[in-house]
Amino acid sequence: MFSDNDLTTYRARLRGALIQPGDANYDQARTVFNAMIDKRPRLIARCADVADVIASVQFAREHGLLLAVRGGGHNGGGLGVCDDGLVIDLSGLRGIRVDPAARSVRVDGGCLWREVDHATHAFGLAAPSGIISSTGVGGLTLGGGIGHLTRRWGLSIDNLLSADVVLADGRLVTASEHSHPDLYWALRGGGGNFGVVTSFEFRLHPVANVIAGPTLWPLARAAEVMAWYRDFIVNAPEELNGFLALMTVPPAPPFPEALHRQKMCGVVWCWTGDPAKADAAFAPVQATKPALHGPHALPFPMLQGAFDGLYAPGLQWYWRADFVYELPDAAIALHAQYAERLPTLHSAMHLYPIDGAAQRVGRGETAFSYRDARWSAVFVGVDPDPKNAAVISNWARDYQTALHPYSAGGAYVNFMMDEGADRVKASFRDNYPRLAAVKRSYDPGNLFRVNQNIRPA
Ligand SMILES: Cc1cc2nc3c(=O)[nH]c(=O)nc-3n(C[C@H](O)[C@H](O)[C@H](O)COP(=O)(O)OP(=O)(O)OC[C@H]3O[C@@H](n4cnc5c(N)ncnc54)[C@H](O)[C@@H]3O)c2cc1C
Repeated sequence: MFSDNDLTTYRARLRGALIQPGDANYDQARTVFNAMIDKRPRLIARCADVADVIASVQFAREHGLLLAVRGGGHNGGGLGVCDDGLVIDLSGLRGIRVDPAARSVRVDGGCLWREVDHATHAFGLAAPSGIISSTGVGGLTLGGGIGHLTRRWGLSIDNLLSADVVLADGRLVTASEHSHPDLYWALRGGGGNFGVVTSFEFRLHPVANVIAGPTLWPLARAAEVMAWYRDFIVNAPEELNGFLALMTVPPAPPFPEALHRQKMCGVVWCWTGDPAKADAAFAPVQATKPALHGPHALPFPMLQGAFDGLYAPGLQWYWRADFVYELPDAAIALHAQYAERLPTLHSAMHLYPIDGAAQRVGRGETAFSYRDARWSAVFVGVDPDPKNAAVISNWARDYQTALHPYSAGGAYVNFMMDEGADRVKASFRDNYPRLAAVKRSYDPGNLFRVNQNIRPA
């Protein structure tokens, strides 16, 4: 595949470190967020700059190496790492530049969302991202980006103004509305299929403090609360986001001890509107007489980091997902049954709204096809103990299988494991042929295939 001489030449082209099996930091460098993933790459290039990324893409292509690209390393299926191949590790590319006057931010390809939130919060601004601050900007954005600001300002990709991309042939191009518009379209939802994004430029919105936190109800009321939530959230003002969770209350503050380890139904809210109008927005929630109503004023980055302690790196993760249009009573009844069987403290089911601003973008305007779905559902089996890997995986798989008949058919690519080509096609629907054509233009040899893969047309 490559000689010692080839490797020496490649190493000399890199400013960052090249890590190999046997090196002291090899195990640390190949470890990703999901401890269920145990892959052993042949080489890990800790890229220091765009030149390192170009050299690495060329080395992988010229020597026929399997190539993985690691952003934040959060992917459930472990798509930021591979066996036997080369990993382009972007964790050294962490620069961020906020332009407060233009309300935009430029973010290097290896940043985590907590770093972006920190930088933009200083100016009372934020970019729509997810709900956990340790997630990578790269993977989350390229798959779509669903989070606390979705109903008001859309998906992360709806706020992506441009991206610098190292292509399979080693060229660096900028994709935007005016430059490589086909690539710009494909990057917004099509995942890491088209190249290595070394820099993202996002539009920012005025978000400083928010009124946010969970409301919790006993699990015995899950069916009633889900039916209430289904009707409430779709009519709620777009300043109010709220994702529903069937979960177990963590045994820690700020939750009262009486609720610790109780299985409950919850909604995690984020109000970005006028604080003076928050009480009115939450009045219908209070009227349901929950066991706990926790929303309070806090800085947006604090909300983004609220789950980081619970979901620290190194847990076992197995998840399944589906988009849903509606929540019929029969589906709600099944949810209530599977929630009773939540296998571990960390396991949960979440329903993330993707209506509001996200639905005002047409399903063909970006690669993200499911603009008409109301929720992205995820069934997450999580536990620290590897001995429970089968238990959490089976629960998540069985749960999704039971609810799948009530789904829209496809799933959010960022919430999928390795589920095969048909599942990827189902998730892009009628956007798939166009994605395959863009893939043929930019990556005809499918160099970038450690992802939810789109085959070149
Ligand atoms: C705890 C947790 C919470 C999450 N919460 C949310 C959420 O609220 N909203 C949401 O939308 N998603 C969420 N996700 C899913 C998340 O979006 C995906 O796991 C995503 O793939 C993570 O991106 P990453 O860069 O950290 O991952 P990685 O494992 O590094 O990469 C994932 C994929 O993206 C590609 N990629 C990453 N960076 C680049 C780049 N710069 N250029 C080209 N390709 C790249 C990789 O090649 C790989 O195919 C969550 C995941 C976890 C584990």
